[in-house]
Amino acid sequence: MGETSPDLYPTTTRYTDAEGQRGGAGPALSALLTTWLPAQRWFASKGDLTEVTIEARTAIAEIGDRTVEQVLFTVPSPIGIQRYQLWVAWTRNYPDRYAHVLIGETNGEFAYDALYDGDVSAVVLSNIADGLSVGILDFAPEPGAEIDRSAHGLVIGAEQSNTSIVYGNSSILKVFRRLEPGLNPDAEVHRALQAAGSSHIAAALGVIEGPVAGKRTTLALLTGFFANSAEGWAMATASVRDLMAEGDLRADEVGGDFASESLRLGKAVAQVHADLAAAFGTAELDADAVRDLFASMVAGAELVAGHVPSIAEHLPAIRAAFGRAAAAGVSSTGDGAGVPVVVQRIHGDLQLGQTLRTLTGWAIIDFEGEPSKSLAHRRAMASPLRDIAGMMRSFDYAANHSGGPSDSQHAYRAQEWAARNRRAFCEGYAAVAGYDPRDMGPLLAAFELDKAVYEVAYEHGHRPTWEPIPLQAVVRLIKSGETA
Ligand code: ATP
Ligand code: MG
Repeated sequence: MGETSPDLYPTTTRYTDAEGQRGGAGPALSALLTTWLPAQRWFASKGDLTEVTIEARTAIAEIGDRTVEQVLFTVPSPIGIQRYQLWVAWTRNYPDRYAHVLIGETNGEFAYDALYDGDVSAVVLSNIADGLSVGILDFAPEPGAEIDRSAHGLVIGAEQSNTSIVYGNSSILKVFRRLEPGLNPDAEVHRALQAAGSSHIAAALGVIEGPVAGKRTTLALLTGFFANSAEGWAMATASVRDLMAEGDLRADEVGGDFASESLRLGKAVAQVHADLAAAFGTAELDADAVRDLFASMVAGAELVAGHVPSIAEHLPAIRAAFGRAAAAGVSSTGDGAGVPVVVQRIHGDLQLGQTLRTLTGWAIIDFEGEPSKSLAHRRAMASPLRDIAGMMRSFDYAANHSGGPSDSQHAYRAQEWAARNRRAFCEGYAAVAGYDPRDMGPLLAAFELDKAVYEVAYEHGHRPTWEPIPLQAVVRLIKSGETA
């Protein structure tokens, strides 16, 4: 992929060993990382970090007094080796403005997170536009991509699992922090949907790839940037605030009613599902696979019940609810009864935070799938109802997260808002898909229950004051099996 750039790729490397000793008695890069990593939001392996193994260092550029390299490293963890990448700038004249991303100092040289350096992000963008190979890294534009290399890069949002650089109003580069060897579904799906002519995704513009554990791996994805867009989550919660500010009005009477947007969003998601089905194909689960599906939901709930008392208390009812769903006509092929369970590639982590209202309509972003799951799981076919269940849960969260007075009137109105928007979403979905997700009631409810149980576990561990939100849904779903 392209030739190497004589300007950017130093002919001699200054690094004396793979462990990161840069000539001198100071600590090696791996030692600096041992202290620095645990404080990083994207660094998942919490707890004591005693060992960082540098696997590869690629010299990217010399810019003024800075030397820039891309570093692949691994850390041990209870669930096996975890792989990460880091872009490091070294300098003797360390500017204060990078204090928040300082990695450490050794032998009078300072190392900082290079992605925050505008000169570095400019080089990265140019390398992609030029299709350069630099050491083991391949920078590549998508065929026909128009990349505005003059746009200035700025890292956005500190609270993400990856690091994203926005270039002016034109593009956004998502640099994957944690790496699983192989092609990232975010890149794979963007490409496929772009080839299908989807108008609900950002344009795929380029990638950075390299070998990780011997496999060709996506290290970063460049896509078009939707300027002046609003996040679905922000719009939905603003709508809920509007409603709560008007004590006497109903959801359809206040200025911030969101239902017409939910309807459009339902249409967009249905179109994306149709395009994914066309691009990657579909399959029908046989009776055994359907049984396995429900068995895995039960097993998931049992696992959560082991450490979350509120789920343990409801476990028998949760088991019964999954049992009812399994019996209620989703038994698939074989006995002739029930609706077949069709599977296809899906988004995998769909919720309002993964949707953007652009100037022209709704876009869906972040096709990585559920970050905690294996790559194989994230690329596997699944029922599109799982995505829809994710949206149903997200409307519930948006309605209930705002806090405010937790009286019964507030709760009633929040529920009404959620129900109204869930209905609108399903109507929009039905208008494009040709079937209404609510007609798949028991299966949709099962996916929703499965998701809500997982959410209870998450909130229990991370945000205990939020635990009642998904727990309420668990209770509602085991009682009535009601979804939208
Ligand atoms: P998270 O861990 O929060 O899911 P992430 O690292 O997976 O984040 P994304 O979800 O892909 O990254 O994007 C993070 C944020 O960047 C989005 O919430 C959105 O605000 C913004 N964003 C992403 N892609 C675009 C785009 N094409 N146009 C405009 N904004 C975007
Ligand atoms: Mg995201």
